[in-house]
Amino acid sequence: MPLEQITEDQARQEAEAIRPQLIKWGKEYYEQDSPSVQDAEYDQVYDRLTKLEEKYPGIVTADSPTQRVGGSTDSELNKVEHPIPMLSLGDVFSKEELAEFINRLQKEYPNDTEFNCELKIDGLSIALRYEAGKLVQASTRGNGHIGEDITKNALTIKSIPQTLTRPIDIEVRGECYMGKEEFLKLNERRQNDGKSTFANPRNAAAGSLRQLDAQVTADRHLSTFMYNVADYDDLQATTQSGLLQELKELGFTVNENSVVAHNMDEINQYIDKYQERRNDLAYGIDGIVIKTNSLALQMEIGHTVKVPKWAIAYKFPPEIAKVKILDIEWTVGRTGVVTPTAIMDKAKLAGTTVSRASLHNPDYIEKKDIRIGDTVILYKAGDIIPEVERFLPELRPADSKPYQIPTDCPSCGAKLVHLDDEVALRCINPKCPAQLSEQVTHFASRNAMDIDGLGPKLVAQLFDRKLIDDVASLYKLNHDELIELDKFGEKSADNLLKALDDSRSNSLERLLFGLGIRHVGGKAARVIAEHFGNIQNIMKATSEEIAAIDSIGGIIADSVETYFSDPNSQELINELIAVGVNTEFKSTNPVVAEETFFTGKRVVLTGKLIEMTRGTAAKWLEAHGAEVTGSVSKKTDLVIAGEAAGSKLAKAEKLNIPVWNEQKFKTEMEK
Ligand code: NAD
Repeated sequence: MPLEQITEDQARQEAEAIRPQLIKWGKEYYEQDSPSVQDAEYDQVYDRLTKLEEKYPGIVTADSPTQRVGGSTDSELNKVEHPIPMLSLGDVFSKEELAEFINRLQKEYPNDTEFNCELKIDGLSIALRYEAGKLVQASTRGNGHIGEDITKNALTIKSIPQTLTRPIDIEVRGECYMGKEEFLKLNERRQNDGKSTFANPRNAAAGSLRQLDAQVTADRHLSTFMYNVADYDDLQATTQSGLLQELKELGFTVNENSVVAHNMDEINQYIDKYQERRNDLAYGIDGIVIKTNSLALQMEIGHTVKVPKWAIAYKFPPEIAKVKILDIEWTVGRTGVVTPTAIMDKAKLAGTTVSRASLHNPDYIEKKDIRIGDTVILYKAGDIIPEVERFLPELRPADSKPYQIPTDCPSCGAKLVHLDDEVALRCINPKCPAQLSEQVTHFASRNAMDIDGLGPKLVAQLFDRKLIDDVASLYKLNHDELIELDKFGEKSADNLLKALDDSRSNSLERLLFGLGIRHVGGKAARVIAEHFGNIQNIMKATSEEIAAIDSIGGIIADSVETYFSDPNSQELINELIAVGVNTEFKSTNPVVAEETFFTGKRVVLTGKLIEMTRGTAAKWLEAHGAEVTGSVSKKTDLVIAGEAAGSKLAKAEKLNIPVWNEQKFKTEMEK
């Protein structure tokens, strides 16, 4: 419900529903270092709660996440009290909201209009206490009042000075973070060790710092940027920018990218600059922090129970790209499903270059009203797969017309159809070259006729040269024709002919599976072949007779009957018999595993999966015919990338290897 219309009772009810969710997400994030949702989603819900509570302060409860600094004190580490609380930051998600905040301050304090702009480092807050210039205690923020003692761990971090350049008593605060490279390496190591990976550098830093064994922290190579002093009696600095300089002189590492701004224009320039450059930085940032520059004014303005009122975080929006759709390409799969792909201007999206995005099906295009020539917003679903979010009406050309979904197959020109209950468009012409090419590839695949050396490229070439037109014609290929092919010599021709010849004597189930009958996987093919003994018996069988076999359902039975009642199929079988392909079941043949999408594919798992462990995913993949390997190479068929996937994902993208997120993988698992 829009905020303007909501009553106090409705707001209370909504807030009561939101809080437990935020508390649960907070626990996962702060205590388990393992968030189940993206920060942007958390931020959106948190923002809604803040706005409801701002509108009706009477509904605020003491335990509301808006009233408490989120953090864990649950570990076995000793507890440390923070006499001066360690606060969080208020945040805004638009430049308009930021301008309101800045205007308010400028109005109230017209003589002090300097702001220090700093990068918002994606790590966790720490406090370092020094006595007479010696580090005596390091602690985490915890819940803001009580943190955890991490002194031993802090001693292993190179950027934390153990002795200051002046023998002063001081408590300095700042951010402990893990650099991107360290983060990628750590996740890769953990993955190889079969351990869960971290969702983001911040959780990795927290998990690495809050360790009982300081050696673990040492091995993780954490870094720090300090930016605050809890008590600054001993300091000469009078401004935030001066304080950073003084901290540097004391021996701390401070981030060098902060600037003093005097108005919104300068602040916006800073935001734009780092939003653009964030992917080039060696550490993660999730926004910009804007602080009143005068330290005296910071004191005067003060803070709420949770956040300073003199600073605000501008959070970057999730990464998106604006791209122009140049074309929509339709490709025909083996079963005739015709799938649209948007072909776009090359664009950088969250660190990679993208130029294609699946549009899934005609409904998707129609619902989103996507047209050629449109400029669209592209985002990465699950931070991995490019998806079109929406088109930008203001950039739509004046002469733009709704996209016409093709009515004819892009390969053979036959009329496309919508089958009942399907969103997909299909070409049902059994002679469609694109389908035939896919079918021949399937026929030759490892779990079907297993014709070594006959992959998709060779099949395409054979079709292009009109040397084959279906699977039966494969068996008529001769040596002279083959040596004329690109990159084909005597030896490859001989090998292919031998592989073809060997396949003639395969047991029936391989042939039955290789025909690509809808719903008939490897296991069903084996059961049917064994039951009927030869292909003639299967061709004669009614759907009821087939369904009478244990483990064969009505859908498979109907599909087999429909396939063999088609004269084209009967003709194909006769041709296969004529070229000497065996159609009898041979009980000695090894059992063909259930053919799945994954059969014979080399798959790499990387990143953190949320709904299953990588071990479970690997077992499932192997049980479904895939080979799960540890590293990405040209031979990899598919990369399944969870959250915070690192160098393997980057390599897959570089090599143009298909990448799925967990959701897509789950959808395929459930098929
Ligand atoms: P925050 O991280 O949004 O901002 C406050 C923190 O920013 C400070 O405590 C400090 O540690 C840090 N910071 C970095 N650079 C700084 C700088 N230059 N100056 C000052 N501070 C700087 O707030 P939070 O309360 O620590 O955490 C809330 C955020 O955590 C949420 O906005 C959300 O993004 C994330 N979160 C996510 C989930 C999830 O499930 N995904 C759950 C809880 C929280």
